Amino acid sequence: MNRRVATLMVHTSPLDQAGLGDAGGMNIYVCESAQQMAAQGIKVDIFTRRANNDHPDIVDLGNGVRVIHLNVGPLDGVTKEKLPALIPDLSKAFKAALSGETTYDIIHSHYWISGKVAMPVAEELSIPLVHTMHTMARVKNLNLAEGENPEPMIRVQGESQVVAAADALIANTDAEAASLVSLYEACPDNVSVVSPGVNLSMFTAGTGKGPARASLGITKDANVVTFVGRIQPHKGPEVLIRAIAELVSHSPMLRSKLVTLIVGGASGGNGAEVERMKELVQWLGINDVVRFEPPVDREGLANYYRASDLVCVPSYSESFGLVALEAQACGTPVVASAVGGLRTAVADGISGVLVDGHDPRAWSSVLARLLQEPQRRVLLSMGALEHASHFGWDATSRGTLDIYDRVLSIRSAVKKNIG
Ligand code: UDP
Repeated sequence: MNRRVATLMVHTSPLDQAGLGDAGGMNIYVCESAQQMAAQGIKVDIFTRRANNDHPDIVDLGNGVRVIHLNVGPLDGVTKEKLPALIPDLSKAFKAALSGETTYDIIHSHYWISGKVAMPVAEELSIPLVHTMHTMARVKNLNLAEGENPEPMIRVQGESQVVAAADALIANTDAEAASLVSLYEACPDNVSVVSPGVNLSMFTAGTGKGPARASLGITKDANVVTFVGRIQPHKGPEVLIRAIAELVSHSPMLRSKLVTLIVGGASGGNGAEVERMKELVQWLGINDVVRFEPPVDREGLANYYRASDLVCVPSYSESFGLVALEAQACGTPVVASAVGGLRTAVADGISGVLVDGHDPRAWSSVLARLLQEPQRRVLLSMGALEHASHFGWDATSRGTLDIYDRVLSIRSAVKKNIG
């Protein structure tokens, strides 16, 4: 089975640092599954738009995985919002790249803009198209944070077109599969569920809390509550910050040992949101217990998870929530919103706690209780390790390859019938 897959992600590069700009879980997803597919003998070329001059046209990531740049549009100033205008040119460049000597068996696009770029190419070159949404406008718009701008109609329309055109759609969870069917009229037979994973050799309990805290300058007896991700309203950092303010006001005895870490950078080009969060911390008078940390690489991140007593994921919607899984793989319980994929990523009461809604007082009461119950945290920590152990990227890539096989066999059966 010497297959070659053309993976397409145009709005962010697999070479970008996750946790900043537009790079997040999808980047990790694409890189980790490509590596796992390569381990099973599949060659994966990841096509992305060149947005800087940091790399040559082709970057060999080893084991049969390459990143190939499409030289389309200017290097600077093409935000995700402006990218749809480049879709026709990106399709042209992608088609040209796929029309050379190398032949591809499958196109796998990620996020709606790549789906739109891939659609005409898949049709013209008769290559089956598999698509993963990662997030969907209609789901987001039903779950907006206060004051958050809704996703535009062009995205909703684009997503609907991709749903209609793809040979197969991959959803992260049953909840996402249901949204594809109910909100986008996807044919249920075209939707498959494949869980994302976590790198179980990188995210481990390691040598435990002590050394991790020492490396971050945090004392052994601190109570550490951590948020990891891009700073955007939808991820709910404000919910955590306000919950921490409630917590120190209602349980002042917790204040002296409390350390709240906000790890991650501005989302898209929105540095203003980071500033707003810093001002909020100032205004709430809690700068003694909140620390903002710039984005870190994955190994560095494992250290933050290990150093934490709790990792919070207060998102308004989440197609999965890799941060939740990574934290648990490091033995850290997660407090997450009971939304979307987080209901799968966290086993409520076993590996963490799911909270309904985003009321900072409700979040504060959950956090205060957990911080004051170390025995319960020990049990949740064991549950977290166990729960995360079921989500390796090898399973994700096996599930994805099964879908490729199915799509290809349907294609060849149709060809035979026509022939
Ligand atoms: N991440 C990172 N460094 C950071 C912050 C985040 O590498 O400083 C990674 C994190 O490990 C995770 C991803 O960014 O894999 C975020 O994925 P998630 O699914 O939680 O959110 P998304 O960005 O997809 O909305």
